[in-house]
Amino acid sequence: MSLIYTVKKNYDRLPASLLKIAGALYYCLPAEKRYGGDFEKTTDLLKKTEYLSKEELDTLVNERFLYIVKYAAAHVPYYREKYGEYGVDMASIHDVRDIVKLPTIDKEELRAHRDQFLSDEYKPEDLMYITTSGSTGNPVGFYQKKSMMMTEWAYVMHIWSRAGCKPDSSRLVLRGKKIKEGGKDPHIFYDPLRRELNCDVFNMTEENLEKYCVAIEKYKPEFIHGYMSAIMMLAKYVESRGGGLKHSFKGILAVSENILREQRDYVEKVFGARVFSFYGHSERLVIAGECEKSSQYHIEPLYGYCELLDRNGRQANEGEITGTGFLNDAMPLIRYRTGDIASWSGEKECPCGRHALRLAGVQGRWNQDMLVTKEGAYVSLAALNIHSDEFDYIVRYKLVQDEPGVVTMKILPQKEYSNEKGKRIKGLLEEKVSGKIRFDLQLVDDLPVGANGKYKIVDQRLPIHHFKIS
Ligand SMILES: [Zn+2]
Repeated sequence: MSLIYTVKKNYDRLPASLLKIAGALYYCLPAEKRYGGDFEKTTDLLKKTEYLSKEELDTLVNERFLYIVKYAAAHVPYYREKYGEYGVDMASIHDVRDIVKLPTIDKEELRAHRDQFLSDEYKPEDLMYITTSGSTGNPVGFYQKKSMMMTEWAYVMHIWSRAGCKPDSSRLVLRGKKIKEGGKDPHIFYDPLRRELNCDVFNMTEENLEKYCVAIEKYKPEFIHGYMSAIMMLAKYVESRGGGLKHSFKGILAVSENILREQRDYVEKVFGARVFSFYGHSERLVIAGECEKSSQYHIEPLYGYCELLDRNGRQANEGEITGTGFLNDAMPLIRYRTGDIASWSGEKECPCGRHALRLAGVQGRWNQDMLVTKEGAYVSLAALNIHSDEFDYIVRYKLVQDEPGVVTMKILPQKEYSNEKGKRIKGLLEEKVSGKIRFDLQLVDDLPVGANGKYKIVDQRLPIHHFKIS
């Protein structure tokens, strides 16, 4: 167990006044003590293997794949039974190309048979229990080895290192985290242990946003780390504020929400820093991040294997991210359908020199970030690709759909917004979808974030799995 894990558990109970001293003492320790063995080991491995040739990577991937599949078939009751039913001949599994001989699994299966996915070599009390929301909104729970927490953090830091971010870099944090009580302001909290300036994303009023700007000038965090919806709100305020911000950030680390091209462009323009994002999920099967040269997602090959499957379960250029995790033999998830839709990069090489597979983009969850035309075809939010100055006059918007071919666009306007600009937006959107969706505009006073602090642009109320993907 890493020291930071133990310290943080107690640290969060300390009164705000003592945190400064605790934080200063903590940073007297060497980095390997603070983050622990799992973090160090993973970081070393990632550094050593980052630029391996395709052949060298394939060898490592095949080793990891064969280990997890054979282990699962031998130690996990669910796979033993399912592979038996499917007549999977384990002797015919030679390398990762043979993955297509194995059946896929999904969230509903995991929910129904959770304990059967547990290896007979592990006990639940030795593991972490994680829950995530399923495709129908019901949570699904699973077990992970405790070492996964710091291993995951090593992967995230490895990806962020391409943005110049180090484990000790200071960050402005705009996430759904509850702000610690006992500080001077209920909406702002500076945490010296994590070097984080935490700002409340649930109450991003003009008054609070002004206070956030003052705090940014005071603490000068090197990076912004948070949800794109919240970063957008801050950017909109900074742009409308006389004088903007004097402080400049080294980079913007966007997490947990899909990023639209127009959001990326806008935020980069306002802060003068690049946005870096990565794809990941709580099941920890596939992680992929941007690089110095490109915003495509480079899959980390030793973390897990990624396939894109079409509706018929065949490997395709665009499809559902289906992951086989290499790190968690306590509860292996093999060919697990995540519900996220993505497409492969069509380009052969990335100028960065890494040989990992790349995703051109993640379009979002198949049942959450999609709109439906009157013919019943899907249009992903990313495909709307709104590049227009008219959107500068909107603070935030939401697309509500409860009828195929009709979308209500709720708009929280900036002061400079006008009906004329609204008409232009409606025209642009309808043109994008070739008139197959009608957009009805509605001005509103507030568009709050969800209970987890994340913001969903699409409020899709149709039973969307009944429609086809196009
Ligand atoms: Zn690259």
